[in-house]
Amino acid sequence: MTTVHASPVESTYEPIGPDERAALTELAFGIGRRYETRGFGDLDAARDHWREVTEAGLAAISLPTEYGGAGTMSDLLLVAERLAAGGYPAGKLTISSAMGGAVLLRHGSEEQRRRWVPAIGDGSLRFCFALTEPGAGSNAARMTTTATKTDGGWRISGEKTYISAVDDSDMMLVVAKDAASGGFSLFSLPLPCDRLQLQPVKVLAPVPERQWTVYFDDVELPDDALVGEAGGGGRALFDGLNPERLIVAAQAVGIGRWCLEKAAAYAGQRVVFDVPIGQHQAVQHPLAEALIDLEAAWAMIERGAAAYESGDDPRAAGLACNMAKVKACDAGLKAADAALQTFGGSGFTSESMLFDRFGYLRLLKSTPVSRELALNQVAVSGLGLPRSY
Ligand SMILES: Cc1cc2nc3c(=O)[nH]c(=O)nc-3n(C[C@H](O)[C@H](O)[C@H](O)COP(=O)(O)OP(=O)(O)OC[C@H]3O[C@@H](n4cnc5c(N)ncnc54)[C@H](O)[C@@H]3O)c2cc1C
Repeated sequence: MTTVHASPVESTYEPIGPDERAALTELAFGIGRRYETRGFGDLDAARDHWREVTEAGLAAISLPTEYGGAGTMSDLLLVAERLAAGGYPAGKLTISSAMGGAVLLRHGSEEQRRRWVPAIGDGSLRFCFALTEPGAGSNAARMTTTATKTDGGWRISGEKTYISAVDDSDMMLVVAKDAASGGFSLFSLPLPCDRLQLQPVKVLAPVPERQWTVYFDDVELPDDALVGEAGGGGRALFDGLNPERLIVAAQAVGIGRWCLEKAAAYAGQRVVFDVPIGQHQAVQHPLAEALIDLEAAWAMIERGAAAYESGDDPRAAGLACNMAKVKACDAGLKAADAALQTFGGSGFTSESMLFDRFGYLRLLKSTPVSRELALNQVAVSGLGLPRSY
């Protein structure tokens, strides 16, 4: 049993032993495999898949034992990678278990933790996350959504965009500017909410949820909707963004592995010019290089997880998580591209599903943090270069 001191309260995490870890790995891979022929944008598939994931207890991985969880962030990353390597990632692990869990555990009140963390673990509480604004984009400091203190609560007004799964979540974690101090505050907003106006954003990438522009029309929230300190939510935000980056990275590695598995099988049996195409080094090498990059990315993800879990040095954790995100998303995309090339024309058919996976991995270069913004942070924290953002 380990104790994590990074949170205001000490939480206990029950490490998963080698046998249990192997069983978990197999379980996650098997669930992913059952959905490998389904498109990532197929919402029915995504919902059925999430139901299987939660029924298997996988959403509780990385949550402390006192809230019904088991394992650590490293175990959750392995689960996320194995689901994706099987053929289908669980997007909701990112915002619910990893991000929502991390923010509540490190910054929520005991009451909030007791109420919500077990429900994250059993899948009955699904989070969405609202940070991006049309006018601010990557520059969150420019956000204009404002939280004003009222008698006994808060009033939120403003606008967010590209918010995923607002229609398929029970709670929104909203980042707003505190009207009094100008700092960030985090709020939990129960959904559906009749003071929210929703407008769909039509995204063509194969994603397992819908996106929305959300207008906060003087939304009234009670005092206990505030998570962490008013105006002091910057740390909570970054404590949530690090696990988000790691989970996305783990998914990218898993999807990349799935692409390579398919490409190697195809290259071994597709005969052109009298030999299997996989016998040509021009076909082998891009796949081999992609495999090396995926392995390197996985090592960086493990390093990021260790830095995040230790909680000792937030700057080092941010650096390691951003590095892992960049490396893993590059590696996943490279693997999907190499696999597409191996398949020739068949890579673009619905039968192979490769172009669907390529589209999703390409999206991960731009979101949830763009490659450039992650590199900016690496340049500043890793190289001591002046801040440009
Ligand atoms: C499918 C999808 C789902 C999403 N889900 C959510 C969600 O659930 N919740 C949420 O809050 N947001 C969500 N987003 C938003 C996403 O996080 C943002 O799109 C992303 O952070 C980039 O912001 P932006 O689109 O405003 O780009 P911009 O900030 O306008 O940037 C445009 C380009 O300029 C580059 N750039 C900008 N500034 C710099 C700089 N200083 N240095 C170098 N390059 C720079 C960026 O890297 C990018 O390539 C989602 C987006 C998509 C497409």
